[in-house]
Amino acid sequence: MKKNNNKFETNAIRTQLKRSENLEHSVPLYLTSSFVFEDAEDMRASFAEEKDRNIYSRYSNPNSSEFIEKVCQMEGAESGFAFASGMAAVFSTLAALLDSGDHVLSARSIFGSTHSLFTNFFPKWNIDHTYFKIDELEKIEGLITPKTKIIYAETPTNPGVDVLDLEELGKIAKKNNLILIIDNCFASPYLQQPIKFGADLVIHSGTKLMDGQGRVLAGITVGSADLMDKVYRFSRITGPALSPFNAWVLSKSLETLAIRVDRHCDNALKLAEYLEASDKVNWVKYPFLKSHPKYEIAKKQMKAGGCVVAFEVKGGLEAGREFFDSIKLLSLSANLGDSRTIVTHPASTTHSKLSVEERAAVGISDGTVRISVGLEHIDDIIADIAQALG
Ligand SMILES: *Cc1c(COP(=O)(O)O)cnc(C)c1O
Repeated sequence: MKKNNNKFETNAIRTQLKRSENLEHSVPLYLTSSFVFEDAEDMRASFAEEKDRNIYSRYSNPNSSEFIEKVCQMEGAESGFAFASGMAAVFSTLAALLDSGDHVLSARSIFGSTHSLFTNFFPKWNIDHTYFKIDELEKIEGLITPKTKIIYAETPTNPGVDVLDLEELGKIAKKNNLILIIDNCFASPYLQQPIKFGADLVIHSGTKLMDGQGRVLAGITVGSADLMDKVYRFSRITGPALSPFNAWVLSKSLETLAIRVDRHCDNALKLAEYLEASDKVNWVKYPFLKSHPKYEIAKKQMKAGGCVVAFEVKGGLEAGREFFDSIKLLSLSANLGDSRTIVTHPASTTHSKLSVEERAAVGISDGTVRISVGLEHIDDIIADIAQALG
């Protein structure tokens, strides 16, 4: 990726591939599995990687390349690879970099499927992990072993919206010569760029704020060229590539990422303030509420607080059930970062596979509600929540 001086919003729109001889204004969809060669020499040189060109859409495709180029601009990354889902990005990135016998230090508060990957699947390839608490970064160095290769974390966390100090973690990774990987999905590249704070690789589920309209599954990893080369070599063989159609959708979605996320954050902050003033809830968590324990860190590393608000309904499980059954306008679903506001009960859905103790350890009680605040008018969002709480 070539750096330029354009602002984020401009690059999101003006980063584009060279257009075809038709000079189309908006990028066309390259729905093709393979690409043709001029002659025998072109074919040989292409496979020998003497030429930078498309061969087969499992390796690269113009639509994926444009999407990757945009995300690299946004994150300040050298190169990237686009995947069929966020979990394909998480799995392929880790599997490409880890060898049997290696050890990962991971934050305990991570996406449910990533947790499952560490605990249920990586052990069969003799890849071990240790969890650390994100508010005890000073203890991390004591957990590093000679086998440790990667530090893995997310911020803000799901669903507890806790915030981890990226600068501090970046320093620890650098000092100990470990690869730092940050899942930046909750923030989006518009709100937070972990590479600035020392991350080597940044992973996103494109399914969330990047698409922003709940249409496609996607994932992407971007970062340093040498690490991404390993991820690319592994991925072009194992086949988790993003479809050209979904890449085309995402590249368009990114054009409006900044204005969408601005509105998500305005709405989320207003809802968080409303909930904080309500006598129907025990607590509210949102990174840009002054009451958030990591408010200062959130301000340091994020442009705004994101789209997710967590709170606890007073009255335990029974009151929680009543709250969900009373929602009229908003969606009961498990996605986030959608234009539609989504209300989720983590204890019975995304985190139901965890034990009660494990849930407590990541800050999820039976009454915890996670709201992904959408783009409807804030008055209507608050009205629906208010009547459901009432
Ligand atoms: C959704 C999500 C993922 C997984 O993404 P998929 O596109 O659903 O595979 C990974 N990390 C975080 C933080 C997520 O929210």
